[in-house]
Amino acid sequence: MTTATPPVRPLVDRYGRHVSYLRISVTDRCDFRCVYCMAEDMTFLPKKDVLRFEEIEAIAGAFIARGTTRIRLTGGEPLVRRDIMDLVATLGAKIGHGLDELTLTTNGSQLRRHAQGLAEAGVRRLNVSLDTLDAARFAAITRRGRLDDVLAGIDAAQAAGLAIKINMVAMRGVNDDEIESMMAWAHGRDMGLTLIEGMPLGEVGIDRVDSYLPLRELHDTLARRYTLTKLDKRTGGPARYVHVAETGGVLGFITPMSHNFCESCNRVRLTATGQLFLCLGQDDQVNLRDALREGGPVALDAALDQAMLIKPKGHDFVIDRTRPEPALGRHMSVTGG
Ligand code: SAM
Ligand code: SF4
Repeated sequence: MTTATPPVRPLVDRYGRHVSYLRISVTDRCDFRCVYCMAEDMTFLPKKDVLRFEEIEAIAGAFIARGTTRIRLTGGEPLVRRDIMDLVATLGAKIGHGLDELTLTTNGSQLRRHAQGLAEAGVRRLNVSLDTLDAARFAAITRRGRLDDVLAGIDAAQAAGLAIKINMVAMRGVNDDEIESMMAWAHGRDMGLTLIEGMPLGEVGIDRVDSYLPLRELHDTLARRYTLTKLDKRTGGPARYVHVAETGGVLGFITPMSHNFCESCNRVRLTATGQLFLCLGQDDQVNLRDALREGGPVALDAALDQAMLIKPKGHDFVIDRTRPEPALGRHMSVTGG
């Protein structure tokens, strides 16, 4: 379903890219501490700095009025924010009224109790992050998660009719031996599997140079064992998809490191404190919370115009063996993955 009337002033940046996709980090907190994402001893934001639901709704409404048709809630872990289902219900009510789709990216830990509510609010698809099917390895990667909780959450989501895509960060020497078994499992359950290259965001717990697995290389290895047919499914995002004849499922590759996807970028990211980041890999940002609090809807709308003027052309992550520090100090959980 698409919007009936085109937006009056669509959000278009200096490079002619239409921004139609907003990712909202509803919290920087999480019940896991995945080694590639967070340090063991993360300091989280004081609650007073975090946007209230009314503020998130006002910002989402301003985007929808300017032609945003897809919203994804993320974090941190979106389902650990208190009363999160209230926000999901309010945003879900905008589906068919400018919004085409509301989705979530979740670690699945709280999915069992929320799956039915998400479906009732109009959510149709979820991305669930899962890097291994081995319980001990899962505990080691997430530092505090339980595999069984996530698997029960996936069961509940499928029972509620939600389509699921599994996101797996592929790490050399950590879980690269499980890629084929994860694919067989996911495709056997009618779920897509998308492999993600680890990105150098924030100080964390692993050596990213050693665990970095270029997905182009992995794709070529898989192509020798499976019949991979390129799909034309473009999302304006970093993923490229293939159909796997042997499993009948879809395999995605998110390659921010080895493939630059910026020319078709259609997205921006709102942090839990109301900073609008214009690129996952750059610092350019606009403070929508201050605009809204100090100037109301008019200032908020002007801030969206300002954002379009400064959205950068692209990012340039490089794995550099001589520079062990992250490319960007900001963790993925801050920007909203
Ligand atoms: N907590 C939720 C989850 O894990 O799905 C949502 C937020 S999480 C930051 C979103 C996605 O970012 C997850 O799929 C996670 O694996 C991925 N991610 C986090 N840090 C990353 C990094 N440094 N490189 C690549 N992917 C990362
Ligand atoms: Fe939490 Fe998701 Fe980051 Fe893991 S990847 S620590 S689940 S925010």
